[in-house]
Amino acid sequence: MIYTGVKGTQDYHPALARQFNNLVGDARAVLERYAYQEIILPVLEDEGVFRKGVGEATDIVERQMLKIEGKDNIILRPEGTAQTVRFFLENSLHKQSDFYKFFYIGSMFRGERPQRGRLRQFNQIGVEVFGSHRVSLDAEVIKTASQILAQAGVGEVELKINTLGCLRDKEAFSRLLVERIREHAGHLCEDCRRRREKNPLRIIDCKNDKCKNIVKGLNLEGAHLCAPCKDRFDDLGRLIKEAGVAFVYDPYLVRGLDYYTGTVFEFTSQRLGAQDAIGAGGRYDTLVERLGGPSIPAIGFALGIERMLIALGEPKNETVVAVYVAATSPAMQSPAFMITQQLRDAGINTETDHCEKSLKGQFRYAQRLGVRYVVLVGDEEIKENCVMLKNMQTSGQEKVKIDDLTNKIKNFTTENSEKN
Ligand SMILES: [Zn+2]
Ligand SMILES: [Zn+2]
Repeated sequence: MIYTGVKGTQDYHPALARQFNNLVGDARAVLERYAYQEIILPVLEDEGVFRKGVGEATDIVERQMLKIEGKDNIILRPEGTAQTVRFFLENSLHKQSDFYKFFYIGSMFRGERPQRGRLRQFNQIGVEVFGSHRVSLDAEVIKTASQILAQAGVGEVELKINTLGCLRDKEAFSRLLVERIREHAGHLCEDCRRRREKNPLRIIDCKNDKCKNIVKGLNLEGAHLCAPCKDRFDDLGRLIKEAGVAFVYDPYLVRGLDYYTGTVFEFTSQRLGAQDAIGAGGRYDTLVERLGGPSIPAIGFALGIERMLIALGEPKNETVVAVYVAATSPAMQSPAFMITQQLRDAGINTETDHCEKSLKGQFRYAQRLGVRYVVLVGDEEIKENCVMLKNMQTSGQEKVKIDDLTNKIKNFTTENSEKN
């Protein structure tokens, strides 16, 4: 028997891996343009970080944490925000500076039964910013996410924004919800009946159609906001619009994690089907304090790389290897190997035969690699220190001195890229 991959995990074959890395590279360039600094944190984390940070009554903590057997409190991280706050506090960064913009790219894990669009191991591009409550920062963070998605070429996305208001507003909203939902309690799903006690805002996130309809009928829109929070949200809308990002106001966007206050947002793509969120984020001004630190305002987002890849569609097979060096006879294998090495040393991506293939077989391999040039190493030419250089696009070929080969190929390659 052969083994299959663990359910809910994904293998990245070469074309997909390339697409993945291109996407990550483009994102990194955008993030650096916006002055974010990269951090790399472990995938193992104390589960307390999430129990305390994300909240006991959230889906992540109740059902989705992936524990390490035999290690009581070590889990595979389910998300990056609470972990980044742990890193921030452990290193007392607030004592060194008052403002930080971080980003990370890495794997997150969920223990829940995997389904389409919800993997057990998935990758995220996330940012976390500490030290400013200014609304201009909210707008910039949203613009950053939108820029990454645009740069990746994931096509049309919809941005929904809402505000939960300050902590007092959020609590008022929660109370209002509990009050108005009381008479409908009997019609809520089992999860929501439980949520009513422990984390009522989660009812708004419920995917159950019955619950959704009940919530829509409650008329909760904006009623809970104090005047400063309302003004702030109006300012945010204006700034985002000025930054050239289209959005819709969604009063029912609350995000299922305890740590959010104020601005929340979500990007969705029609290319994704039922699990249509491609990324989301918001303010978490109380999280640093929840995790034992001082009161420091913060905001961030995470984009799902696998969801972005789905939205991008099938990866193209791109040419990575530029040159194939073919030996026209067994005696030519040794010089072919030397020439291959000479080209590689000059920084040209080059491949040669390792399977004693016939010349025809070598050309087939060269074609599969999509190379631009084939160098034919033949007994006659080698006597004159020459090889034949064949252009695979034009099929033209010419005799070239081995000493000139590197320059010749380099010149062709630059001419080509200038034309493109
Ligand atoms: Zn408020
Ligand atoms: Zn429900």
